[in-house]
Amino acid sequence: MESVGGAQTRILSLIAPLANEEVRLEDARERVLAEPLISTSTVPPFDNASMDGYAVVAADTAAAPRTLAVIGSVRAGDAPQGRVTPDSAIRIMTGAPLPAGADAVVRLEDTDNGSESVTVVVTVAPGTAVRHAGEDVRPGDVVLAAGTRLVAADLAAAAAVGCGRLTVRRRPQVAILSTGDELVPCGRVTRAGQIVDCNAVALAAAVEEAGGTVLNLGIAADSPDDIRQHLLRAITSDLIISTAGVSVGDHDHVRDVVAELGDIDFWRVAMRPGRPLAVGHVRGVPFLGLPGNPVSSQVTFELFARPAILALQGATRLHRRRLRAELAEPVETPDELDVFLRGSFAGMAVSGAPLVGLVGTQSSGATRSLAAADCLIVVAAGVGRLERGSPVEVLPVR
Ligand code: AMP
Ligand code: MG
Repeated sequence: MESVGGAQTRILSLIAPLANEEVRLEDARERVLAEPLISTSTVPPFDNASMDGYAVVAADTAAAPRTLAVIGSVRAGDAPQGRVTPDSAIRIMTGAPLPAGADAVVRLEDTDNGSESVTVVVTVAPGTAVRHAGEDVRPGDVVLAAGTRLVAADLAAAAAVGCGRLTVRRRPQVAILSTGDELVPCGRVTRAGQIVDCNAVALAAAVEEAGGTVLNLGIAADSPDDIRQHLLRAITSDLIISTAGVSVGDHDHVRDVVAELGDIDFWRVAMRPGRPLAVGHVRGVPFLGLPGNPVSSQVTFELFARPAILALQGATRLHRRRLRAELAEPVETPDELDVFLRGSFAGMAVSGAPLVGLVGTQSSGATRSLAAADCLIVVAAGVGRLERGSPVEVLPVR
């Protein structure tokens, strides 16, 4: 059986980043940058005021209070204008270019706000309230590294250096297949013995959150033929994810069909929830056969499929950051497995660490308890029991 870390490494070794494409900045949110963004410009482009006030020669304020002649006014959007000479000042608004001769701005609040002349009541050092040209970015600076998954702040930084389009990786198309004779599509009425397919809708959402597009293959019955036919519709996808039918039950045929159409690399991971997890290829397309229980499929998606989808996009950060937290209650887990418990943050411990407790039932089928959880509490194999107050690693999932 593979460890969680071993399985993650083996899955990522099956993945190669997709081709590049160009997108408008407005469409680049959550896309992954394929090449570093290197600036050809200077930000800010010119020295400018960071406060509303008066542009002055700083030395003139050494013996404040001091009255200076106001010889002009400049506002944001104006071209640079005027020249400040000793004993004079130019009224200036935030963002306006600093006039020649000035080396500081005295904020309005530190003056009498005069118009013909102004009395400055503080002493300022050169550079006060001035944003210098190039203090943020200079030509040649790396603004954004390749592999960055772009968020709002990244788009602002790209816009600031005059960039209107970015080179990103193509979005991976991820095929999703539910399997099981008992399943009916969500929203339909179930007959006795039937179960609503909750995996497809959850995984489709998770694929999109990870930057992929979804090809929904629907539901395959527990028959090798039906599974084969469904899988063969996905061979132009970049990744295929199925749920259920990968264990050792009488009606679990997914592994056999995948082995026939491609290969199975390994199929068990020492974790709970989610021990049966089949990894391989279908006609050359990387394949992840997740377990059927809804919580198992979502937790294994988080640990194995999400990093794979990000790796297809060439992302640098494939795994969520883990936090150190403190347990609000004792937990007991099977010794031989890495266990991912549904947890919730419950304020701060005396130590200053976030406090986490368990949420709802820990059954692999209990969708409501996963919906109520905001983190997974990780208890590594070999630990077994943890007392209240023990340090633990948690994986924030929302
Ligand atoms: P299996 O791995 O096929 O034995 O499925 C394990 C459990 O997960 C069974 O109770 C299934 O009914 C349930 N299950 C499988 N697929 C889904 C699904 N798409 N939505 C909800 N439950 C499922
Ligand atoms: Mg089944």
